[in-house]
Amino acid sequence: MTTLWVVAISAAVCQISVFLTTIYLHRALTHRGLEVHRALAPLMHLHLSLFTGIKPREWVAVHRKHHHFSDKEGDPHSPLLFGLWRVLLGNVFYYRAEAANAATIAKYTPDYREDWVDRLPRRLISFAPLAGLGLFLILFGWLAGAIAYAVQGVVYILLNSSINSVCHVVGYRNYDNQATNLRSIALLTGGEGLHNNHHEFPSSARFARRASEIDPAWPVILVLERLGLATVNRAAIGKAA
Ligand SMILES: [Zn+2]
Ligand SMILES: [Zn+2]
Repeated sequence: MTTLWVVAISAAVCQISVFLTTIYLHRALTHRGLEVHRALAPLMHLHLSLFTGIKPREWVAVHRKHHHFSDKEGDPHSPLLFGLWRVLLGNVFYYRAEAANAATIAKYTPDYREDWVDRLPRRLISFAPLAGLGLFLILFGWLAGAIAYAVQGVVYILLNSSINSVCHVVGYRNYDNQATNLRSIALLTGGEGLHNNHHEFPSSARFARRASEIDPAWPVILVLERLGLATVNRAAIGKAA
């Protein structure tokens, strides 16, 4: 396979992970801004297991705690508490530390419903990222596959980290909260860069608030809804925190 194809497929896998993170993990599971059809949701979960290793219940718990404390003592990854660069480059470590806290998981996810991916043997799901790597190796060959898998993983981590770091410090604000909006990051992160809007309306499935703001995940959500694969909580779109 040519290098161009390797780059294109890896970038597509990374962007699919980004869209599933914002639509499924963030807007649906964490904030209940929409509900994803129960036939589709576990497939989203499976993709994230293979290519990011994220466990949805952990992600939901850590992120709800972030909203609860939001740049105050107790926020798992605030750049105001820990420093912009440390959260940008080390967000994954702050995340892992909080995700390992059983009390956080129990407190913030009493409503979490397991799907069939959660019910797979624990050991099997722990090896899911290796299965994802195996797919890349089969598709691209040993060296190109290993490099492509690592790069898509690192880019995904940095994109997520940029929300928790840069989008609490740099950018413009439509509303009076610490988070910021950055249109460029929003384009790369399925709309997550409109983070000031999100902190103001956390359970809104739509992140854009101005005509000049682009939320790439929103039209995808509307298509899913049209296909009967998602239901948007429209009352929540105008509901401030
Ligand atoms: Zn935030
Ligand atoms: Zn959120």
